[in-house]
Parts: sequence; structure tokens; C-alpha cells
Amino acid sequence: MFVVGLTGGIGSGKSTVADLFAAEGVPLVDTDLIAHRITAPHGIAMPLIAAEFGEAFVAADSSLDRARMRTLVFSDEGARKRLENITHPLIRAETEREQREARGPYVIVVVPLLVESGTWKTRVNRVLTVDCSVETQISRVMRRNAFSREQVLAIIARQATREARLAAADDVVDNDNTSLDALTSQVGVLHRMYLSLAVV
Ligand code: ADP
Repeated sequence: MFVVGLTGGIGSGKSTVADLFAAEGVPLVDTDLIAHRITAPHGIAMPLIAAEFGEAFVAADSSLDRARMRTLVFSDEGARKRLENITHPLIRAETEREQREARGPYVIVVVPLLVESGTWKTRVNRVLTVDCSVETQISRVMRRNAFSREQVLAIIARQATREARLAAADDVVDNDNTSLDALTSQVGVLHRMYLSLAVV
């Protein structure tokens, strides 16, 4: 199956663009959803997390105690690495399973941290970056999440730069001061290109 990796910074419009591809009938695999599912109640990562970090990190409903884990990995890089050593292979395996099961001309895999996390680029046929200015990211996320400017800036600082994401891209959607109509037509052009690439 031909795989397009869709990425972009927080608030760039990844979900909005993914939904437009879905409206064209393209199946989506969302790695954020998968990451959440494996640590949901009785998720497949939970026994491994309990063994590695202790039952204190398991909430009453058998899901990950996210607040507690967030506090730990925020201050302890080693703990973050140990957590990722558990979650990343599971996310990868689940993503590959969903890709195999997807039915359509090609599949879009939404990977927010595609540029940041090493091997992703080699696991997709094409990288599509949703691009906008940092100011646009800030204003969208402040509105969407009711975050302060500082909170959004702190998240952006932990992500790849706009330049790095553009450098990694095969294709770019311009989503800065872009109307929904203009966004839809950009997606239409890319969709037709991916359809032709997928059948080669
Ligand atoms: P991401 O998934 O990259 O974090 P979203 O697709 O959720 O970004 O977009 C962030 C916010 O900005 C959402 O509330 C979305 O509705 C809004 N948004 C995204 N693109 C546009 C656009 N072209 N015009 C208006 N609002 C937009």
C-alpha cells in the first residue's frame, strides 16, 4: 500500500487536512489515537508500563495515570526514554497493522512527530507537511485549547522547526491565512497526484 505521512506542528492544521483527505475516501491511520489507545484502560502497553514503573502509574480504571507520568518524564529524561522504549514499538506495530487492514487507493498516516522521531521518514512513501507561520500556530492553539501564549510557545519549542519540517517534505500544504475552500482545493490536487503515484 502506498503510504503518505502527514505531519506539521501543533495547530498547523493536520487534523483539518486529514479530514479533507478522508472526505475524498482516503483511509486514515492516526498515530496520536493509537498512542492514546495503547495506554487507555487495559491498553496493550499497560502491563509493560506497570512492570517498568510500578502500579502507582496505573489509574483505578487500569489506564495510564497521565498526570503522574507527565510529571515524571518532564523532569527525568531517562524515564522518558524508558517509556518510549515501551510505547514506540507498540505504536509502530499497531500503525503497521492498521495500514495493512486499510482499504483504499492509498493510506494517510498522521504522524505529528514524523520529523522529530528518526525512522518514520523511511517508513512512508511520501512526506506531506502542513505549513503555517508560528504566529498562526499560536493564535489557533490559544483559541482551540484555551492555552496561554507561553504554553503554546513551550510546546512549539519542543517540536521540530518550521524549516526542518519543510526540508523533510515531499509535498507541502500552505495553511497560513488559507480559506477552507483554498485548503480543499490544495488537498484535491494532492489527492489526484497520490492516486496516480499509488497505481504505478
Ligand atoms: P493540528 O491537528 O495540526 O494540531 P488542527 O487541524 O486541529 O491542527 O487545527 C488547529 C485549529 O485551527 C483547529 O481549531 C482548526 O479548526 C483551526 N484551523 C485549521 N486550519 C484552519 C483554516 N485554514 N482556517 C481556519 N481555521 C483553521
